Amino acid sequence: MAAEGARFFAERAWVAGGWARDVLLVADAQGHWSEVRPACTAADREGATRLDGPVLPGLVDAHSHAFQRAIAGLTERSPAGRDDFWSWRDRMYDAALRITPEQLEAIAAQLYAELLRVGYTQVCEFHYLHNAQDGRAYADPAEMVHALARAARRVGIGLTLLPTLYMRSGFGATGLRDDQRRFASTPDSVLALADRLAGEGLVNAGVALHSVRAVDAAALGEVAAAARGRMPVHIHISEQRREVEECVTLHGKRPIEWLLAQAPVDQSWNLVHATHADRDELAALRQSGASIVLCPSTEGNLGDGVFDLPAWLGASGRWAIGSDSHVTRDWTEELRLLEYSQRFAQRERNVAARAAVRESTAAALFEGALEGGSAAAGRKLGGLAVGQRADFRGGHAGAGFARRAGRARAGRPGVLQPVGASARGVRGGARGRAAGHYGRLPRSHAIPLGLILIRVELAG
Ligand SMILES: [Zn+2]
Repeated sequence: MAAEGARFFAERAWVAGGWARDVLLVADAQGHWSEVRPACTAADREGATRLDGPVLPGLVDAHSHAFQRAIAGLTERSPAGRDDFWSWRDRMYDAALRITPEQLEAIAAQLYAELLRVGYTQVCEFHYLHNAQDGRAYADPAEMVHALARAARRVGIGLTLLPTLYMRSGFGATGLRDDQRRFASTPDSVLALADRLAGEGLVNAGVALHSVRAVDAAALGEVAAAARGRMPVHIHISEQRREVEECVTLHGKRPIEWLLAQAPVDQSWNLVHATHADRDELAALRQSGASIVLCPSTEGNLGDGVFDLPAWLGASGRWAIGSDSHVTRDWTEELRLLEYSQRFAQRERNVAARAAVRESTAAALFEGALEGGSAAAGRKLGGLAVGQRADFRGGHAGAGFARRAGRARAGRPGVLQPVGASARGVRGGARGRAAGHYGRLPRSHAIPLGLILIRVELAG
C-alpha cells in the first residue's frame, strides 16, 4: 500500500456522479487518492483535515490560448463591415504579433490563477505562438513554452502543453500569411517541443494540429504516427461553415470525414469545437473513441454556431469544456451556456440531461466535463475516486485551510497547495473557495508585469 500523504474529511463531496455525505478522502504520498470512503464514522475521520462546504473534484480546462486572455473584452466594439470570427481573428493576430515571452508569462500566470480559483486544476494549452515577432525562431525554440510552464508552476496549476503544428494559411495554400509568421512550425519542431516537456511534474505534453486547413495530409500523418499511444492529440475542427465548405470543395469530404480517412484517430484524440459536424460525422467519430472539446463562451462570443449536443450525448460521446479565448474563466458559466444554447436552439428544457439519460442537468454536464477533461489532459483527473489525482475544489480559505497553507509557505512538505493564497496574490485580498492539488509545495504567486498595462499596450 502506498504511503499515506494526507487525510481529509468533507461533510458533502461529489463522488461517483452524485453527492455523498461524510466522506473520508485519503491521498497517498504521490498525490493520488488511495481511499475515498463515504458514510465514514467519527473514528474513521479522526485526525483528518476538515474541508468546509461541498467538495468537488478539480476540472480540466481542455482548451486554452493563454495569450488571448490579454484581449478578452477588447474586441467588443464592431469594426467597419461584417464582424465575425475572421474579423475577430485579424484583431487577435495584432496582439499575437506583439506579445513577448515576459508578457506571455505574466498573462498566463494571471489566467491560470483565475482558472485555479474557480476549480480548474489542469489546463490544456493549445500553443502555436512559437517564434519571435519577426518570425525567426528564438535561440531556444522552447522560449515561449518555458514561459507558459513557468506561469503554471508559479500558480500551481497542472499544465498539458500542446505544441501546435501550423504550416499554411488555408486549404491549398503553400505557406503562412505574413501575420502568421510566429506560428511557423514543422512536424519535427512540435514533436521536439513535446519530447522536451515529457514528464516534468506539473507539466505534461501532448501535441496539436492547428486545423485541417493549416496542415497537409503528409504532416498530419507524420504527427499522428509519432504521437500514437504516447500522448493526447488535439485539433480545431469545423468551427466555421467556411472551413467546412472549403474542405468539401478541395477534398470532396467534410472536415471530420476527411480527418478520419487520413489519420488513425482513436481515444487519445480531442476535436475542438466540431460546431458544424453533421450527424454522420458524429456517428463515425463516436466509433473512433475520440472526444470533442466544447468552448461555449468563445463559440458564443465569436458567433460560431451551436453544436449538436443531443446527437453526441445520445451516442454517449465523450466531451470536455475549454475556455479557449477566455471571455469567461468560470466553468459554471461554460456549462450553463452549453445547456442554454441548446434550449434556445431546441426550444426545450434540460436538453443535456435527457440526451445523456440522466435526471439532473447539472450531473449530466459536470460528469461529462470531468470524464472528457481527464482524457484531454492525458492525466488521471476523473474525480474523487481511488487512483485519480487528488485535485479538488472546496473548503473555505479560512482558519484550518489557511494555517496549512501557511506552513506550506514555510517549506514543510506534504501539505495543501494554498490556492486561496494564489488567488489573493492577484486579486488583492479576495478570500473564498479554494481549489488545489495535493502534495506540491506552492511557488511564488507574484506577477511581475501588470496585465492591465499589457492590455493597454495591445489595445493601442
Ligand atoms: Zn482554439
